[in-house]
Amino acid sequence: MKEFKTILMATDFSESSDHAFSYAASLARKFNARLLLLHVINEPVDLRGFYAPHISFEKLEEEIEEGAQKMMEKFCQNHLRDYDNYETFIVPGIPYDEVIKKAISANADLIVVGTHGRTGLDHMLFGSTAEKIVRKSPIPVMTVRLEH
Ligand code: AMP
Repeated sequence: MKEFKTILMATDFSESSDHAFSYAASLARKFNARLLLLHVINEPVDLRGFYAPHISFEKLEEEIEEGAQKMMEKFCQNHLRDYDNYETFIVPGIPYDEVIKKAISANADLIVVGTHGRTGLDHMLFGSTAEKIVRKSPIPVMTVRLEH
């Protein structure tokens, strides 16, 4: 029988990943699995200082990372107060690539992601991290669609 010992939840802190998270958390609780929460800081980040000219590149990078850490802490306080079998990771890179790499290196049994169910032009313009993960991951992926 297949076991779920380690579940990787990829979160971009969006409504769709929050929705998917509820499934990841239920499964983790059910199987007493280790829950890995991963957020990828999209790279290349626009670090030209265009939006905040008074901040140096290094400072901007630091602030982005600190902001991401705070979002992750808040997320865990809100959603995981009664579950301590989890770990959080924040890494820079290309989201689908980092998610798959982390799942492989952590020996995860399942990856959980949200989807917006974008279609048509919207889909062509924005692409889909979830779709790329499904296509390229050697590890099973559960996608949870958020219907509006
Ligand atoms: P998307 O296809 O870009 O709308 O994203 C779909 C799902 O991929 C999200 O609900 C997350 O589960 C995951 N995802 C997207 N971007 C990231 C990111 N930067 N870090 C971690 N997971 C992500």
